[in-house]
Amino acid sequence: MAVECGDNSISLMEGDSLSMSNQVSGPLSPPIPAHHPVTDFYWESTRYHRLSLLRCQSCGHFVHFPRPICDNCQSTDLAPEEISGRGTLYTYCTVMQAGAPYFVDKVPYVIGVIDIEEEPGVRIPAGIEGVDSDLRCGIPMEVFFVDVTDTLTLPYFRRLTGTSV
Ligand SMILES: [Zn+2]
Repeated sequence: MAVECGDNSISLMEGDSLSMSNQVSGPLSPPIPAHHPVTDFYWESTRYHRLSLLRCQSCGHFVHFPRPICDNCQSTDLAPEEISGRGTLYTYCTVMQAGAPYFVDKVPYVIGVIDIEEEPGVRIPAGIEGVDSDLRCGIPMEVFFVDVTDTLTLPYFRRLTGTSV
């Protein structure tokens, strides 16, 4: 079976499958996050080029990924709060193989995990600007935003301006 994707073609052997947890609106569309009452605020804030995380109103802990219960004190009193978008690079890797047709012409690219400045230990996975030779765990990073589609904006991180390895 061959899946035609514009100029790209991916052949699947019998029994192979491409599975994704998020819906895909077309072969060359990026994975689109499904609407959910607990996560919609996150994607709405990125559309305005802001980064917001849920914060527990009882103990002050930031909760990410978004979920309805604080993982520190089990309170359900959570509210979105805008954060600075600064942090440090906790870990990263270079993706060399596309996991879906949309990524075929984008490899290699770097993904990583950022410790947020407001509460190290609370981490955001995201795309990372640059190549791995420029990156080191622990370097200061800042968010920027990429409008991937008319309705989806993703946070990416890059080395904080004015810093060196
Ligand atoms: Zn809490």
